[in-house]
Amino acid sequence: MSIMRYLMEHLTHPTVDEIYTALSPEMPTLSKTTVYNTLKLLSEHGAIQTLTIDERNTCYDADTSPHAHFLCKRCGKIYDLPHGETKKKVETWEMNGHDVQEIHFYYKGICKDCKQEDSLKQRENRETNKN
Ligand SMILES: [Zn+2]
Ligand SMILES: [Zn+2]
Repeated sequence: MSIMRYLMEHLTHPTVDEIYTALSPEMPTLSKTTVYNTLKLLSEHGAIQTLTIDERNTCYDADTSPHAHFLCKRCGKIYDLPHGETKKKVETWEMNGHDVQEIHFYYKGICKDCKQEDSLKQRENRETNKN
């Protein structure tokens, strides 16, 4: 229950580790295996989405509506992208009698925060080079 609540409150696509670290102080008996098994169960029941956008870490999302994800390769942050097109496609498929259970739409790149940091660093470098 706490795991589900945590996911609903943190739509930041946390990993097993992040959920475990956040919940273990208030739940001393909690183990990483329990977190993992609970997440697996929730995802099997369609209560949460499992994201494999980051090949090193599986992330979990309590928002099960069809939406795309953008992973920043630099900081590893995952952003939600509204994806109205996806919804339309799913509806068309379901009208054809298919049962769509999972949608994975992944975009990867560098997020605007990291880009900003990059341009700042470049400017700094240019200034130090001048001197
Ligand atoms: Zn970033
Ligand atoms: Zn999401």
